[in-house]
Amino acid sequence: MKKILSMDKNEILKKFSSEPDRYYKVKLFEEQGFVRKACSKCGKFFWTLDSERELCPDDGTDTYSFIGEPPTTKRFDYTQAWKQVEEFFVKNNHTSVNRYPVVCRWRDDLYFTIASIVDFQRVMGSKVVFEFPANPLVVPQTCLRFKDLENVGVTGRHFSSFCMIGQHSIPNSQGYWKDECVDLDFRLLTEQFGIKKEEVVFVEDVWAGGGSFGSSLEYFVRGLELGNAVFTEFQGELGNHTTLDQKIIDMGAGLERFAWITTGTPTAYDCCFGPITNHLMNKIGIDSDSEMLRNYFTTIAKNLEIYDDLIKVRKQTIKTTGLTEDQISRIITPLEGIYLIADHLRTLIFAITDGALPSNVGGGYNLRMMLRRINGTVDRMNLKLDIDELVDMHIDYLKDTYPELESKRQDVKTILKLESQRYVESKSRMSKMASKLKEKGRAPSVDELITLYESDGITPEYLKETEVISEIPSSFYVKLSDLHQSDKKKAMEQLSLENIAETDMLFYKDDPMEFDAKVLKVFEKGIVLDRTSFYARGGGQEPDHGSIAGFKVINVNKHGGIILHELEGGIPAEGDTVSCKVDVTRRANITKNHTSTHILNSSAREVLGSWVWQHSAFKEDDHARLDITHHSSLTDSQVADIEKAANKIIAKNMSVTIENYDRGTAEQKYGFKIYQGGVVPVKSVRIVSIEDFDVEACGGTHVKKTKDIELIKITKTKRIQDGVVRLEFVSGPTAQQYVKQQGILQTKNKEDSAQKEIKEKLREENKQKAREKIPILLEQVLAGKSVETDGITVNGKLCFTANEDYDDYFHQNFGKKLVAADDTVAYCGIFEAGPTIRIMIYAGEKSGVNAGSIAKEIAAILGGSGGGDDKFAQGGGKDTSKKDEAIAKAKSMILG
Ligand SMILES: [Zn+2]
Ligand SMILES: [Zn+2]
Repeated sequence: MKKILSMDKNEILKKFSSEPDRYYKVKLFEEQGFVRKACSKCGKFFWTLDSERELCPDDGTDTYSFIGEPPTTKRFDYTQAWKQVEEFFVKNNHTSVNRYPVVCRWRDDLYFTIASIVDFQRVMGSKVVFEFPANPLVVPQTCLRFKDLENVGVTGRHFSSFCMIGQHSIPNSQGYWKDECVDLDFRLLTEQFGIKKEEVVFVEDVWAGGGSFGSSLEYFVRGLELGNAVFTEFQGELGNHTTLDQKIIDMGAGLERFAWITTGTPTAYDCCFGPITNHLMNKIGIDSDSEMLRNYFTTIAKNLEIYDDLIKVRKQTIKTTGLTEDQISRIITPLEGIYLIADHLRTLIFAITDGALPSNVGGGYNLRMMLRRINGTVDRMNLKLDIDELVDMHIDYLKDTYPELESKRQDVKTILKLESQRYVESKSRMSKMASKLKEKGRAPSVDELITLYESDGITPEYLKETEVISEIPSSFYVKLSDLHQSDKKKAMEQLSLENIAETDMLFYKDDPMEFDAKVLKVFEKGIVLDRTSFYARGGGQEPDHGSIAGFKVINVNKHGGIILHELEGGIPAEGDTVSCKVDVTRRANITKNHTSTHILNSSAREVLGSWVWQHSAFKEDDHARLDITHHSSLTDSQVADIEKAANKIIAKNMSVTIENYDRGTAEQKYGFKIYQGGVVPVKSVRIVSIEDFDVEACGGTHVKKTKDIELIKITKTKRIQDGVVRLEFVSGPTAQQYVKQQGILQTKNKEDSAQKEIKEKLREENKQKAREKIPILLEQVLAGKSVETDGITVNGKLCFTANEDYDDYFHQNFGKKLVAADDTVAYCGIFEAGPTIRIMIYAGEKSGVNAGSIAKEIAAILGGSGGGDDKFAQGGGKDTSKKDEAIAKAKSMILG
């Protein structure tokens, strides 16, 4: 698949480059006198003002020569560089838009935002459309990418998250196309950043994806690709393509690189994390401002173009730069660790701020992995680090550009602390497992690795570190993410619904509970009406019941815009006009449960923390559940607090309002927290607000005032998977009933336990009395009369008892003393001890009784085991139903 795509890409490039005037030549090139050249080494076409230049930026001799010698007169670090970019584009009529969340709530095929253009992509049915809040615009979009984690900290330029400067335009009366785009990018570099015109090289390339394609111009300065302007222009396949109705400019540039080129530090990490890198370097006594490091990282950059394998790149670099073992272990390795810590922590701050949680599943997997890598590095380097202090430094540095980080400062610290504790707790267990695996002498398979990670929390990174495996199999991540794909949608029943008009959904209008409708179509088990008030199953809300033409409605489902009613008992005929009645009580209960879900969700967030999002929900007539994202099981007091907060909202009798918005407007107005119930695949979204307490995009039915709900009771909570907690609850009359039942149950429990106490006390008293009776009983039995005394059957010198008042203390003392006094005596007692029935036998030497064989046989009857010798034995079992049988058998065995 991938191969075909890249072949396509090469073909498109060949085609476009054969007509450079049409696809690549922009006004700027003409005005400034750019010349078009083919690289003498790789053949790629590029545009330059330097007529002497023979090589493309990748192959050029000036590659990474900005390290130590930046081509600009001004120096800008990360946050300053953004101010420059923003100032330039705003000056040139762009709207500067705030970044979108890194957790991609508006697409269900992406966990994280991976490019600035993703901000504006919305799914409509099966198509992706673009929705821009302004045109043209620029955005500092934080993007998360976990593909090259092993490069982070080592190469000098790979990050787990970076800021993509997104410059986007739709060519119309407000926006522009290629000429102006390239002109702007060129002026950004030369005018705003003061880079000499001759330093800028544009390379011809193409972009293809999602059924569309277009030409692109990558721009480089001294071998460093700063940005790539993609002109999405066509759809279809090359040769069989049409021009898009909506052409789009997707220029993405790396802010980290803009800072790097103006500062010329050895790595991009040195100028992008504010004071953190220096702070960490001071801790271990390294100075990054050294010729040795500039040389080392310049060579790394060059070698990255030559070798595929990172280990080889590093080895070769050490060789050419002539570094000693001591320099590597004292400077390079610790530096790599510092860079990794700073990078991973910044990514975690963005992700947790936007509501993601480290876990074993889905996107949370990457976050946990990164924190484990930080923890592992800190351990290995033996660093004494205060993570809270580093979080503060990151946020203090970034908050000018990203003020939203400030409000989540404490939440980020809470989550990181909790996760680090979990790491410490699991460490010794992990090392034991690792050495066990090593003993096996066989590397675990990918499936085994997944089991190890999922059930024991052992990351493949850790196993690589401990040399259990030499490499992490590339299929590991693919398989794991496949496993955690959201539930596949059930295949829809095949019904021929073509040529049926869409159902008029009255539940979104005046919602009459009784109405007449026309039967449009009849299937074996269901019918389609022209209009209906029966709410169809959707958004976790169960369907309405009721009757149509006197037949029971048992299920209602939506198929696109058509609603199918399943009936029981009979079916009306096509063309009939039928009278329909919705079960009002059921609807009211479900509705209360639905509004309650919204209230509980926001209440849980208020009580627990900003990371709480709805994971999923289910609303039935008499019960409902809400699954939320949270890191731990809930304590009783947390549950009580959530319930209290929810009922406070009911008591306040807040208004619940429903309004329809254009999707873009809703997102801008309320933010992405409206997508609690998941992605909304339509242009117009239905916003349900409980005043300013909770605002969600939702298609369900809701009460008008919160007091209509009466009461919310959480009946049970459970951690159903890593990072997800389930709240089961009831509301309305069901909640009132629940409370009543709980009251009755409580009283009954109290009564039961009081009675049990009395019984227990009586038993204790009886046991005590029995113990006191031992001396008298001894006398009576040793007298040798065949009688029944106090529940003990005596036959000559053989005694048996199953009296309940005798406990093991009694049997031991009585039996022992009997046998000691007369060696012709045998004694057997059966009694209850907790859940088991036990037997104890004492046999005098001359009694003719074998204690051991009796114990064994009786225990077997009771489903247990027994043991001992001829003189003393005991045993028992838990099968209380065999008690009588055991007693009868024991009695006959001992008394003969
Ligand atoms: Zn080349
Ligand atoms: Zn809802």
